[in-house]
Amino acid sequence: MLLKSIPIPNPRIAKQKKVQVVGEPPNPINIPPGCRFHPRCPHARDICKKEEPPLVEAEKGHFVACWLYSEKEKTSTTS
Ligand code: SF4
Repeated sequence: MLLKSIPIPNPRIAKQKKVQVVGEPPNPINIPPGCRFHPRCPHARDICKKEEPPLVEAEKGHFVACWLYSEKEKTSTTS
């Protein structure tokens, strides 16, 4: 979502863009608990507001810090 929200300098192509991140980045002196992106994330869950997601290897050599990719979250939603 963050990569898709990068501004496009060409107005014709920018009009076709469908992803927009709403809200403001967090205040660096008052970072929210849990995932720093949770106030602006359309996929945020309860755990996102409480615990910082661990960095996990989603694919070989590609790391992500998001509860959607965490084994802990997967096991807690399936049990
Ligand atoms: S952990 Fe993932 S799903 Fe949760 S708020 Fe952060 S980016 Fe969104």
